Amino acid sequence: AAPVAVSEGAAPIRFSFEVFPARSGAAALALGHAVQHLAAAGPEFISVTYGASGSSQDASLDLLKYLRQHTDALPLAHLTTVAMPRERLAEVIRETLQAGISDFLALRGDPPKGSDERDPAVTASLDAVELIRLIDEVRAERDETGDADPRSGAGRTSVAVYPNGHPLSRSRRADIDWLIAKEAAGASFGITQLFFHAEDYLGFVSEAREAGLTMPILPGLMPVATGAQLRKVASLAGQPAPSDLERALETSGSAEPGVAHTVGLARELLAGGAPSVHLYTFNRHQQVLAVLRELGVLTPDPVSVGPRPPVDASR
Ligand code: FAD
Repeated sequence: AAPVAVSEGAAPIRFSFEVFPARSGAAALALGHAVQHLAAAGPEFISVTYGASGSSQDASLDLLKYLRQHTDALPLAHLTTVAMPRERLAEVIRETLQAGISDFLALRGDPPKGSDERDPAVTASLDAVELIRLIDEVRAERDETGDADPRSGAGRTSVAVYPNGHPLSRSRRADIDWLIAKEAAGASFGITQLFFHAEDYLGFVSEAREAGLTMPILPGLMPVATGAQLRKVASLAGQPAPSDLERALETSGSAEPGVAHTVGLARELLAGGAPSVHLYTFNRHQQVLAVLRELGVLTPDPVSVGPRPPVDASR
């Protein structure tokens, strides 16, 4: 399904989604259903997290394969290096390419539970720049042996971006230099950590452009459904939850304020030059599709509308 233009002559709004592997059989059934709705909306890609919050790495590959085989959406594989020997990482990249998945988000990842940044297994891990190069090396090896899935393209590598800084960040300038190093190593675009104010993204991108960054930066947005969810994601992103949004979610008892907040943010970002919006789905399709409908990208949910009723031949 091609995205519908907002108004005549305007370029269609582009969008993508993030999902994570299900942690139970029941959640997997719900996810299969959500993913069908998400894919039918016509995203540029659907990304799948890797090892985040203790999920298994095999589960990520299974979900990527499901997307590849049962939807029209382009799957994008997150991959983290932390506590993984280089050879094992190369194997994971090989397996992913062999499954016909060529697009990656190259990440360092967080220290596993019970360890920290000083743990030798963590300090010995490849950083995001080294992972970008390793992915390219394995892609080149695949090109030489010619065992690529003919349906997959050459593939692109994306990287994480932190408009409000990363806990490891020494300074805004060091973050921007590090991002420029990721671009120089071969990254084609960036995806941001969650943020709540348009200025966080616009200010960061403008400084990065002045410093010489040229790759597109996709803003990562999440329409939160409840006050509790807002507090949780804000703490994971290391930012204070906006108190007006928190109050609105608590008072309304519905997900509507989260949708309205994301729509407002998306409008400001797109008007300020953002190339598209990347929506964190939390494995639910309802809120993100509501955002896209409000933005005028989608007519009613493509799956729930279903096939047209048969024509009544007797008339
Ligand atoms: P890096 O880019 O290697 O470094 C992060 C920051 O550290 C830099 O921005 C910079 O501030 C500083 N830094 C590091 N090295 C240098 C250097 N040499 N010079 C200067 N500064 C440096 N985690 C998961 O486990 N699984 C996932 O699926 C996942 N998906 C994510 C998706 C997105 C869009 C984002 C934004 C994050 C995701 N994360 C995920 C979290 C991510 O793995 C962690 O935030 C991790 O701590 C950093 O990974 P990174 O690739 O950004 O690291």
